[in-house]
Amino acid sequence: MVSLDISIQSKVYPNSLERVLEGLDFSVSKGEFVALVGPSGAGKSTLLNMIAGLEKSDPGEVFYNGHSMEDRPPCKIGYIFQQPRLMPWLTVAENLRLVMPKVSDTQIEAILGRVGLSGKSASYSKQLSGGMQRRVSIARAFLTQPELLLLDEPFVSLDAPNAQRLRDLLLELWQEHKPTVVFVTHDLNEAIQLADRVLFLSSAPGKVVLDKVVDIQRPRL
Ligand code: ADP
Ligand code: ADP
Repeated sequence: MVSLDISIQSKVYPNSLERVLEGLDFSVSKGEFVALVGPSGAGKSTLLNMIAGLEKSDPGEVFYNGHSMEDRPPCKIGYIFQQPRLMPWLTVAENLRLVMPKVSDTQIEAILGRVGLSGKSASYSKQLSGGMQRRVSIARAFLTQPELLLLDEPFVSLDAPNAQRLRDLLLELWQEHKPTVVFVTHDLNEAIQLADRVLFLSSAPGKVVLDKVVDIQRPRL
């Protein structure tokens, strides 16, 4: 598993003058489930992209188990986006094979069974409901047994019962291997329900203003 040490002095996008993040310093322990809450525009997606190595900080650094981005050993990262981002011209199985080409049909069926999509491996995304597409994106993220799982408002435009089913599914899958999780949301209730620890990111420019350990009983699974 991965621990993260995040130390970002500032982040400015090349085509703008606005500071998106400033003075951000926090750590995430191995296997910890952290939620990052903040208003729209606070820089939550930017921060997740920096943790994934898709965006650079200037200056600043994200350390994986004490290693900088440049010299860290390979690390399996799962990223679940707000939109499922399935390739519409590929089947469910082919979408899963994009992240793990050598996976067998049996393994595909097994992970689809886990997310409640048995028998859907040959379907195309337009044949699936929004909730089902999100289940595929969850399956895709867990297929590689990631050490680090990043989620960017994954349940945002779902109806309440569907969102709750997917939150339960996420916790169930997480508890099998306990990857380190950074879960971005603007929904405080969702953060408290899922996470061990909730970080609040302020707007303009984004900075952690409160770091609270949530002391609640997780629902029994
Ligand atoms: P959040 O996820 O909290 O809504 P974002 O990280 O998406 O916040 O965006 C934070 C700020 O950075 C916003 O003002 C947004 O317009 C700006 N921003 C995000 N991505 C880019 C980009 N690629 N180029 C320029 N500005 C960006
Ligand atoms: P969210 O706030 O839910 O993270 P956004 O709609 O802010 O999503 O951003 C969607 C995409 O657009 C992201 O990839 C982000 O980097 C990009 N983006 C956001 N704001 C800007 C901007 N001002 N300039 C360029 N790209 C942007």
